[in-house]
Amino acid sequence: MEKIKILGAGLSGLTAAINLAKEGYKVKVFEKNSDCGKRFDGDFQGLENWTSETDVLDDLKSMNIDANFYREPFRKMSFYDPDMKKKDVVSNKPIFYLVRRGSSRGCFDMELKKQAENTGVDIEFKKTVNESDADIIATGPKHVSGVVKGITFKTKSEKTAVVVLNDDISPKGYSYLLIEGGTGTIAVVVLKDIENADSYIKKAIRIFRGNIEFGMNNEKYFSGYGNFSLQDNYERDGNLIVGEAAGLQDFLLGFGMRYAVISGYLAARSIIENKSYNKIIQERLGHQLKASLVNRFLFEKLGNRGYKKVLKRIKFRDPVNILNKQYNYSFTKKIIYPLSKTSMRK
Ligand SMILES: Cc1cc2nc3c(=O)[nH]c(=O)nc-3n(C[C@H](O)[C@H](O)[C@H](O)COP(=O)(O)OP(=O)(O)OC[C@H]3O[C@@H](n4cnc5c(N)ncnc54)[C@H](O)[C@@H]3O)c2cc1C
Repeated sequence: MEKIKILGAGLSGLTAAINLAKEGYKVKVFEKNSDCGKRFDGDFQGLENWTSETDVLDDLKSMNIDANFYREPFRKMSFYDPDMKKKDVVSNKPIFYLVRRGSSRGCFDMELKKQAENTGVDIEFKKTVNESDADIIATGPKHVSGVVKGITFKTKSEKTAVVVLNDDISPKGYSYLLIEGGTGTIAVVVLKDIENADSYIKKAIRIFRGNIEFGMNNEKYFSGYGNFSLQDNYERDGNLIVGEAAGLQDFLLGFGMRYAVISGYLAARSIIENKSYNKIIQERLGHQLKASLVNRFLFEKLGNRGYKKVLKRIKFRDPVNILNKQYNYSFTKKIIYPLSKTSMRK
């Protein structure tokens, strides 16, 4: 039986492990922390449902991942422009599923860990090996493209999803408020002036509290960073690089969970079917990544005046479909892509 070594027991590493173990491979995962999900503390993240026409939960199933973790569909949300003018959005299809990240029961990370162990994957915690000794590198972000600063809290307020576009509190990013099941999160995603991110989260909390009514107790701050980059090759010295270790993340909004699962799955398929990983990842994600890079380039040109104009003009009748279209590598996107690539490299 062929032995496969994976470095990192996050979403990408565990997805690869589950798929390989299902095909009879002996899989060993090395995780530097004492458990899965230690990078997070039960905070909410959104599993986006717009980059493909298939529902993300069906997509996970097709990649042998059971969606038996805590997940709450969100069909309604509100956007605010820099003047706090509100635009409500309602969708038939879930816009995203709220999930929890961390080491407690129900978190995406923990339920994936259980699935991996039930499939026969051996995970060794508090252990690392050299990258050159692993077949799959799934170690998460190394470089900082943007930071997230946030606060989780207890609240009696009802289910809420709010996004604010305002460079004064989240330069070139966005800030959000999510409330569900007695817990809330406010966070800022900051892509410029990231050294001042602490002051932005404080400002964001003031703005959210000043404009939206909700209670807050037992506040806990959290922070993290993300890495997105476009690679020509996702293999290095025979190793397959997956998830954020490969810079695989959405350039526009920083949603990386779906990319982590897809790339973990594709790495496993490339080993099982003896195919080039680089080729199959380019086939599945290449155009989507290029479109998302162009989206970021255009978004950065907007600024507060642009956010106001866009939010005023956009019709939010079918938000999932509108977002889905932004990830088509259309003729216009192909023309803008070279300029976006040069600009983002700088
Ligand atoms: C605060 C925050 C909010 C986010 N919100 C969203 C969101 O709403 N929606 C979304 O889709 N994405 C979101 N993301 C991004 C998403 O969390 C990541 O893209 C995703 O977790 C990447 O999965 P991964 O498997 O590549 O890495 P990870 O999930 O980070 O897993 C990497 C694992 O490798 C381990 N490791 C690292 N180095 C080594 C080593 N040398 N040896 C052994 N083990 C090692 C780590 O301990 C970790 O367990 C957010 C990220 C942050 C930081």
